[in-house]
Amino acid sequence: MLIKSPVEFFRMLPKKICPQCGEIMKEQAESYLMECDRCLAKKSE
Ligand SMILES: [Zn+2]
Repeated sequence: MLIKSPVEFFRMLPKKICPQCGEIMKEQAESYLMECDRCLAKKSE
């Protein structure tokens, strides 16, 4: 399969989904975080 541009390649990547609640997460610079903001907030309580 030919990929026309790097932009197209990144579009094809699956979205990140929080394993805790199934929420689709925004791309984050700190991508080592596995859970969405909500679940992380719950944990820190
Ligand atoms: Zn979550």
